[in-house]
Amino acid sequence: MSKRIPIVVANWKLNGGIDLLCASVAAFIGKHFSTKIAICPPYIYMRDMLNFLQHSEIIVGSQNVSKFGSGAYTGETSAQMLKDVGAGLCLIGHSERRQMFNENDGSCQIKVNQALASDLMPVLCIGENAQQREAGITNDVLFRQMHDALADTDITNKEICIAYEPVWAIGTGQAASPEDAQAVHGFIRQELCVIYGVERAEKIHILYGGSVNKSNARELMNQEDIDGLLVGGASLDPNHFIEICKQA
Ligand code: PGA
Repeated sequence: MSKRIPIVVANWKLNGGIDLLCASVAAFIGKHFSTKIAICPPYIYMRDMLNFLQHSEIIVGSQNVSKFGSGAYTGETSAQMLKDVGAGLCLIGHSERRQMFNENDGSCQIKVNQALASDLMPVLCIGENAQQREAGITNDVLFRQMHDALADTDITNKEICIAYEPVWAIGTGQAASPEDAQAVHGFIRQELCVIYGVERAEKIHILYGGSVNKSNARELMNQEDIDGLLVGGASLDPNHFIEICKQA
């Protein structure tokens, strides 16, 4: 069992609308949970969600952040803007962004630094794809993703979080087994020790993501180095998501 207070994060991706926003607010408002909970809706809904949930314990986060601070970058949203409206965290380097929007370890490194500079907690997403897993190079892939994206990051008095999301488990209904996930999380923690030192690394949350649901959440969370969950599909049903939060 992890020593860190669990964090459960909902990633709506490009889903949901006003109806889901209202249903989620209604489901969460006035409730107390023993875990930290964050919801990452599409940008356009963040402000309303922050307003509706301002007296709740729910953290609102973004699914992405710009590499840039300000300027002629049409369509971008900066870390400082997200911070200004009250966001608490931002996902960085989700595999869908790596696959479809040309993100890579270099852009993730810039984004992690942008988020840290604005006191927005970066949630760096890493994970191997099916071919890499079959080739037995999972740890090599994660090593590169972490060391490149976290190079030259100063987290003194800052918070950072890692989300391990095996690409083959995302949206497939095939979550990693708790034992396999733990083995990988242990490796991630070991590398965090190398990067940030043991004392700091012990405090960093490592989330698992990929086909999490109310049936597998508890067993995953029972693992030593699994400190939270990143939930996609199952977070689109507020009641299902609440069940997952309770299991965590
Ligand atoms: P999933 O997505 O829970 O639908 O597998 C997780 C994610 O992509 O963050």
